[in-house]
Amino acid sequence: VTPTISVFGAGPAGLKAAEAAALGGARVTVFDHMARPGRKLLLAGRGGLNLTHAEPLEAFLTRYSAGATRMSAYVRAFPPSAVRDWAHGLGQETFEGTSRRVFPVAMKASPLLRAWLQRLSSLGVRFVGCSRWVGFSDSPGIALVQRDGAIDSHASDAVVLAFGGKSWPEIGSDGRWLSPFGQAGVDVAPLEASNVGIQIDLPPKVQVLAGQPLKMVDLFVCGQRFRGEAMLTSTGLEGGVIYAAGELLRTGLAKQSPLPIALDLQPNRTFDDVLARLKTRDRRRTLGPWLTKNLGLSVPSARLALSVASSHEPAALAQTIKHAALSVIGLAPIERAISTAGGVAWSELDEHLMVKRTPGTFVAGEMINWDAPTGGYLLQACFATGHAAGLGALKFAQKKGG
Ligand SMILES: Cc1cc2nc3c(=O)[nH]c(=O)nc-3n(C[C@H](O)[C@H](O)[C@H](O)COP(=O)(O)OP(=O)(O)OC[C@H]3O[C@@H](n4cnc5c(N)ncnc54)[C@H](O)[C@@H]3O)c2cc1C
Repeated sequence: VTPTISVFGAGPAGLKAAEAAALGGARVTVFDHMARPGRKLLLAGRGGLNLTHAEPLEAFLTRYSAGATRMSAYVRAFPPSAVRDWAHGLGQETFEGTSRRVFPVAMKASPLLRAWLQRLSSLGVRFVGCSRWVGFSDSPGIALVQRDGAIDSHASDAVVLAFGGKSWPEIGSDGRWLSPFGQAGVDVAPLEASNVGIQIDLPPKVQVLAGQPLKMVDLFVCGQRFRGEAMLTSTGLEGGVIYAAGELLRTGLAKQSPLPIALDLQPNRTFDDVLARLKTRDRRRTLGPWLTKNLGLSVPSARLALSVASSHEPAALAQTIKHAALSVIGLAPIERAISTAGGVAWSELDEHLMVKRTPGTFVAGEMINWDAPTGGYLLQACFATGHAAGLGALKFAQKKGG
């Protein structure tokens, strides 16, 4: 008898679970409460779709903070090389960009998603949209599904849930699964914004630069230094360097708000060098363009320095360029985070990612309690846990069928 598997949540984790189970011979149906699959994957594609990272595996595995030990097993079983091979198999060549991040050559998600859905369809996977999972039932393998306002029970041999976190709720992951999980007694760590921007009271002259990159800067938070790119937003800053410091910013803000941070806007020059150059400036030259030409500051960095410096005298300006003091008043809302930390506690899950309290139900992706910075670690974890949950569900379903 062909085992049947239902996957709820058609993001990268759910689709990967569906693929692993279908390749193993199961009849798979994927449900999503949105009309179409992969909405967040498509959104991620707008930033180039950083699929994974090419650093050595041992270094890679250290990027997962919460649940690092458990995550290692799943990433080892479906490593970055497997993600790249899989993308190549879908006709999407990949390349290593700066800092060894891996992207599809197309730098977007739509061709990959299209090819993936075609492959799933050819494996017999059926997609059913506008169908929301609303709870566990008393019998294993039966899920409660809301469609057109009515709630039905849907039976299969095993179920994979891959609902994502709680960011960008309008495109799918709205965290409404938390309540049925709570009712079933499943321990879930609160969902918190991760890889999220920070809110800073910026002068109006800087606010108008929203969307412009500060390029390479050093960020100082709670005595630690991070290097990377930052982007100005209308309410503060976002980007790789902010996300890398995310955990410290979150814990720092919990202790002290506003939280003082600083930016080194020209980390490639020493304070003395910046000061010496500023002293040589012909004062008839306009300061902004002079800073970009002679100190290598990007235009937004120069405007930021000029707006927050106490004076435009060389000493004060050099001090601001090397240590622009800013006050963080909060994190940007979870609705606009790249990802969410928190989720189903690892202690609730067996090695195949089955929820121990509800045999036959497996979970995958961002809804599990792990966290990682941007750099391809998020999608990699979703693919790897999706793969594991799909295989786990397949094994369970095959056993059930005898
Ligand atoms: C702007 C942006 C850019 C990003 N860029 C990158 C990047 O370049 N690299 C990277 O690694 N990561 C990136 N990410 C993060 C990455 O997209 C997510 O980590 C990943 O999509 C999570 O996958 P998932 O399958 O766990 O959940 P999701 O992709 O969120 O999918 C969950 C699915 O479940 C459905 N669902 C939710 N509740 C129910 C329910 N009750 N019933 C039925 N269906 C339900 C949702 O509609 C959704 O389709 C980015 C995120 C954002 C927001």
